Amino acid sequence: MRLVITDLDGTLLDHDTYSFAEAQPALDLLRRLRVPVIFTSSKTRAEILMWRDLMGNRHPFISENGGAVFYPQGYFPQAPEADIFGDPYPELVRALGEASIESGCRVTGFAQMTVENVARECGMTLAMARLARQREFDEPFLVHDQERLDALLAAIASRGKRHTRGGRFHHITGKHDKAAAVRKLAERFRAITPDVETIGLGDGLNDAQFLNAVDIPVLVRSASTEKLKAAVPRGTVTRECGPGGWRDAILELFPQP
Ligand SMILES: [Mg+2]
Repeated sequence: MRLVITDLDGTLLDHDTYSFAEAQPALDLLRRLRVPVIFTSSKTRAEILMWRDLMGNRHPFISENGGAVFYPQGYFPQAPEADIFGDPYPELVRALGEASIESGCRVTGFAQMTVENVARECGMTLAMARLARQREFDEPFLVHDQERLDALLAAIASRGKRHTRGGRFHHITGKHDKAAAVRKLAERFRAITPDVETIGLGDGLNDAQFLNAVDIPVLVRSASTEKLKAAVPRGTVTRECGPGGWRDAILELFPQP
């Protein structure tokens, strides 16, 4: 059995338009082959539920950079509703505020942004921005004093929190990452079918750990490709960016007669 585990922004979804149209032939193929497509994203549960609906996806998914794995009811016998890895959101917002003051590095987190602000920063509709603000395990933020970024990161680390970088935002999280969530999910699949091969697709540095944890890592081309390739030397880089690169990689990995 093969599992496709994929990032969304900049990978399956276009970085600017959020369109997945170019990937549709590959999504159709995976559906015909009954290959589970697992979304693992910095997006919230509410956002991912929307994208799953739009793509007709009924599989488990990983939200907020590995904060939790959610399982549709009855998908695995005896699985809980979710495996939780993240720290509670209010704790992250507090830690970010303290780290900002301590380091003198000004930041703006989602908690301080209105739905309109989030929509503008992310190029989203208001409806999408509303879903994006329903955070559970990860606070995205913008940094205004780049020269104090190192001090900010040190202050975050000293509070037992982690920092990652996505396509648009910095993120503060608990000590979780996409890799631990992916491992847990693969374990649940292996309990049913021992012979599981994992294919991972991502475009950002926050994908490096989970890409190193899968059998076949694919790096979807983006502005971060050079750094990501250094972090994931086994990874194959696609020629195209975003959903076009995603499609080419899948069609190559699942050749049809
Ligand atoms: Mg991405």
